[in-house]
Amino acid sequence: MYTFEDKLKEYAELLVRVGVNVQKGQDLVVTAQVDQAPFARMCVKAAYEAGARSVVVDWGDDAVSRMTFLNAADDVFDSIPEYRVRFNTDFAEKNACFLRLVSSDPENLKGVDPGRLERMHRASGRQMKRYRALLMSSAVPWSIGALASPSWAKLVFPDLPEAEAVAALWERIFMAVRVTGDGTAVEKWRQHQENLQHHVEILNGYAFDRLHYYNALGSDFTVGLCKGHIWCAGGESTPKGQFFMPNMPTEEVFTAPDRNRCEGVICAALPLCKDGNVIENIRFVVKQGKIVEAAASQNEEVLQKSIEVDEGACRFGEVALVPYDSPISNAKTLFYNTLFDENAACHLAFGEAYPMTVQGAMDMSEEERLAAGLNKSITHVDFMVGTADLSIDGYTSDGRCIPVFRNGNFAF
Ligand code: ZN
Ligand code: ZN
Repeated sequence: MYTFEDKLKEYAELLVRVGVNVQKGQDLVVTAQVDQAPFARMCVKAAYEAGARSVVVDWGDDAVSRMTFLNAADDVFDSIPEYRVRFNTDFAEKNACFLRLVSSDPENLKGVDPGRLERMHRASGRQMKRYRALLMSSAVPWSIGALASPSWAKLVFPDLPEAEAVAALWERIFMAVRVTGDGTAVEKWRQHQENLQHHVEILNGYAFDRLHYYNALGSDFTVGLCKGHIWCAGGESTPKGQFFMPNMPTEEVFTAPDRNRCEGVICAALPLCKDGNVIENIRFVVKQGKIVEAAASQNEEVLQKSIEVDEGACRFGEVALVPYDSPISNAKTLFYNTLFDENAACHLAFGEAYPMTVQGAMDMSEEERLAAGLNKSITHVDFMVGTADLSIDGYTSDGRCIPVFRNGNFAF
């Protein structure tokens, strides 16, 4: 029987060795909340054991963030301090790796003026452009791992006492990232990567022109795929060949929708947690790639704001396939955290597309990427559309219709 401590240690090693895969002599930036200091220190230790040159922890605090959004002077939200921009950009340009440990209360910013959040997002998008471009194009290794916190655990398990809820959430996290405490997680992830690759190869072989989604929830939606799109999954490599796993867990196989060729009605299957707000029952009507109607039964205003951040925010940037039978989906737990919930179900994202999902796009200019159908935005928001009865048909450019999903799972 392995202890909780064994599992934490294995998880920290997994994030450092498989997540960012820190190399000898490389710098690592760890972003963590102050109340998660013990786990952050485990990651620092694992990184030095792996030969890191230096490890810097960028501490955050939910309580301070909330006080800032509620009380700070209004102009604070129009720009990011220059030293913050330099901190991230300098490390990225020096080829550091970035490990983000997330544990925030999903409702931490509940009740905060959505205008302040939106302006902050815009400022960050504008000023952090260079840093974000390096991350989004996989020029530097990065990874995100989630940690259980009392506030998050209470949201996931409202009926359990706090300590039990936290323990239960940790167990769900360990299950999702294939950590048992026996030290085999690194090997399990190698096998998992091979399984993902199997679907990638079949999908890339068909080179579909478009996918048609339909289910009883009311989705009847066609997603045009970019010409030369590439299905990707699991790990990625930097141009220097450093293999890393951006998201842990990850169950998705994803590619680029054509920003101008999405059409119909798409309904979210799970609530979306955005800036501390839970948005329920999302329903989008889409014409020629653009979201023309955005409805929700709760927090519709937050949803509206998030598709108005810039011109590309109301168009799609990602289409991802996840079997309904995945370890996370089978846990039948709503995590209120996109990192987990997006790996429980098929999803789409509005906003920025990943350039590596189209052939040659890494070397294209911004205009060329837009012309290829890749969406451009400072935002990227995933929302879940997969249900137990979801069907997806793939249409090839010579008119063949191939079943891709039946009853929520891959048909091949
Ligand atoms: Zn995704
Ligand atoms: Zn995404």
